[in-house]
Amino acid sequence: MAAMSEDEKDFLELSKMGKGSDQHCCVPNCNSNGRRHQVSFHRFPQVGARRNSWIQAIRRDPGPLFNINAYTFVCSLHFIREDFKWTPVTKTLKADAVPTVFSRTRDFTPRRELFKHITTNKKPKLQSENETLLDSISEEVNQEEDIQESEEQLRNPRFSNDDAMIMFYIGFSTYALFLAFFDYVQPATNSMTSYYYKATGTINLSVSRQRTMVLIDELFMFLCRLKCGLFEQDLACRFNVHVSTVSRKLITWSNFLYFVLDSINIWPTRKQIQNKMPQVFKTLYPTTRVIIDCTEIPTERPSSLALNSKCYSTYQSTHTFKSLVGIVPHGALIFISSLYTGSMSDVEITKLCGLVEL
Ligand SMILES: [Zn+2]
Repeated sequence: MAAMSEDEKDFLELSKMGKGSDQHCCVPNCNSNGRRHQVSFHRFPQVGARRNSWIQAIRRDPGPLFNINAYTFVCSLHFIREDFKWTPVTKTLKADAVPTVFSRTRDFTPRRELFKHITTNKKPKLQSENETLLDSISEEVNQEEDIQESEEQLRNPRFSNDDAMIMFYIGFSTYALFLAFFDYVQPATNSMTSYYYKATGTINLSVSRQRTMVLIDELFMFLCRLKCGLFEQDLACRFNVHVSTVSRKLITWSNFLYFVLDSINIWPTRKQIQNKMPQVFKTLYPTTRVIIDCTEIPTERPSSLALNSKCYSTYQSTHTFKSLVGIVPHGALIFISSLYTGSMSDVEITKLCGLVEL
């Protein structure tokens, strides 16, 4: 490339997390290689006019030396920034994108790939019988690769090397921590039922609707909502999806995480608490087990009159829900009660929430 624009630099920066692989770019004079270069690779469109426009764009004639298959890729250097759909976590190639960026004059090192193609084309006739079989196998491999590819997309995040941004948007101290959390909840996501199906009462698991977002993006979006309280419309713009999709995904994730994380026991033993206790507590209140307080969350005014009066908190002079939380001396949150209506007293909630029985 003659001169690298800011965007392209940015672009390479983003792809840093991509794992090395044997993929290489089929564009003449481009020697992008998955092992050595930090670019993403994109398969040819399956059929139709778009496939032809790709072939025309890269100026290579399909034939014995150039056989387009599942392992033929065009690297991201040949697309402009607008060809991709960007979210804070991933980038995906848009359905109508066609490669347009080519450097016809660049010096290039000899391509070993070309040599490989020539030799493989000289195979004996016997092998051709197996080709149909191989084709059907490569179909499956293809699908598997699609999955791998989407997983690799996750590792191409915009904020991956900026822990401050990660902290700001989702409240995780590092990106690695966020990935670890994602890896922890991911196995359970197979059983995650979309809120949409639940609402319509027609849960049909055999109908697999194409996901509009990558799973890790969904989680990232959900955490943005929790941490920054962004409006759904705002998230819809940022993540390039419809606002109703945002709403459904947020509800789905909040239900899902409620069930997954609820099963974790966060109540520590007395010994654990004592080990971590700050010195001040050790001298003044050595037997402290938990520090409790009620917190109130403002809510909209309920339309039901009965609920209206129940939710009204005289202390806050507004409608609230109330929850009892408990922390240990070193600051970790170890108890969160269910939500109660704002008119209930702290004493009542303490009795009801089940803390006493623990
Ligand atoms: Zn290339």
